[in-house]
Amino acid sequence: MRVWDRPALALAPSAHRRVHNFSGGPGALPAEVLAEAQEAILRAPGSDLSVLGISHRSAWFGDVLAEARDNLRALLDLPSEYEILFLQGGASLQFSMVPMALLRGRSQAAEYVVGGYWSAKAVPEAQREGLVRIIWNGQDGGFSRLPRAGELSHDPEAAYLHYVANETVEGLQFHRVLGLDGVARVCDMSSDFLSRPVDCRKFALIYAHAQKNLGPAGVTVVVLRRDLLDGVPDGLPAMLDYRNHVHMGSVYNTPPVFAIYVTLLLTRWLRRQPDGLAGMARLNEAKAALLYGVLDASGGFYASSVAVPDRSIMNVTFRLPDEPLERRFLAEAEAEGFYGLQGHRSRGGIRASLYNAVTLESVRALAGFMEDFRARHA
Ligand SMILES: *Cc1c(COP(=O)(O)O)cnc(C)c1O
Repeated sequence: MRVWDRPALALAPSAHRRVHNFSGGPGALPAEVLAEAQEAILRAPGSDLSVLGISHRSAWFGDVLAEARDNLRALLDLPSEYEILFLQGGASLQFSMVPMALLRGRSQAAEYVVGGYWSAKAVPEAQREGLVRIIWNGQDGGFSRLPRAGELSHDPEAAYLHYVANETVEGLQFHRVLGLDGVARVCDMSSDFLSRPVDCRKFALIYAHAQKNLGPAGVTVVVLRRDLLDGVPDGLPAMLDYRNHVHMGSVYNTPPVFAIYVTLLLTRWLRRQPDGLAGMARLNEAKAALLYGVLDASGGFYASSVAVPDRSIMNVTFRLPDEPLERRFLAEAEAEGFYGLQGHRSRGGIRASLYNAVTLESVRALAGFMEDFRARHA
C-alpha cells in the first residue's frame, strides 16, 4: 500500500477527531507549535519567504539561531562558559563524536554505564576510539533496574563518564546525577531534555536530539563546556569536529533550517509554560503517576519490569498477560484514538511516551481506557 492510499485517518487524524499521540519518537508536538510551523511553511513571520526556502546565511535565520540559543540558555540557566550547538546525525552520531573528541589519543579509559538499549549502542562507537570501562551493565538483569550510587565505582582519572539519563526503550530513568565532580560527565538526554530542571554545571557535555521532547527529527542540540574544545585532537573529519561548529555558530554547512525553526517555536512554548522546567517536571510527574497508578492497581494485569525507584516519567512500559491480548490492546487503543503505544521493536510490549507536549488530558483519557480494557479482559 502506498502511503497516500492509506485511510485519511492515519495521515491527518487531527482533521477528523481528537487523537492522543503517545509515540516514542518522533514524539508529539504542541498543537500551537504545529499551527505556527504550518504558517511558516507558507510565509515565515518577519519574512516574505517560506521557512523551507530561506537561506541559512540570512539575517532572518541568524535571528532564529540567536533566539533559540537564548531560550535554551534561559530555560537551562546555562552559564556563559557553555556553547550550544545545533547539529545533524541524531543522537547516534554523538555516540561517535563524543569519543572522537574526548577519547581518541588518550591513555585513560572512558567510563560507560550500560543501563539500556541506547547506552549499549554508544559503547562500540567509543571502543573504536579508545579504552572503555563498562562500570555497570544491566543487560543480564534484562535492563529492569539502574545501579544505586553504591554500585558504581568511578575512577577519578577517567577520560569522561558517559550515561543515558532516560532509557527510552525500557522506561528507566536516573533521578540523580552520576559520577565524580572531577571527571567530565557526558550525558545523552535525548528523551528527557527539558522535561525537568537540570543542573548543567554538573555536565561537561549534554546532547539531545530534538525528535522526542524538543521538536522534529533532523536536529540535535549539544551543550558543551568550552574548555573541552582544547583537548579535541586534530585530524578529525571537519563535520565531526565540534570546534568547527562552535567557530561557525552551527552554520558550518547547511543546517536543518526547518527543524531548528520548529525547535525555536518549542522553546518559546516552553518559556510560556507556568514556572518553566520546574512546572514542566510537576506536570510530567503527574502524568506518569496516573499511568503507574493504573499499573499498580491492576493486580498484575499490566505488569512492569521496571524497578519502582527507576521508573521513567517519560516512557511508561508494561506488558499484558499474553501477546494476543497486547495486540488487541493496541488495536482497540488505536480505534479509540490512542497512537504510538507499541513498545520498541527490540522489546515488544506497550510503551506510553509522555513527552512534554502530551497533555494531562490525553493521559487521563489513556488511563481511563486502560482501566476499561482491564475490566473487560482481566
Ligand atoms: C532515540 C534515542 C537515541 C537515538 O537517536 P537518533 O537520533 O535516532 O540517533 C539515542 N539515545 C536515546 C536516549 C534515545 O532515546
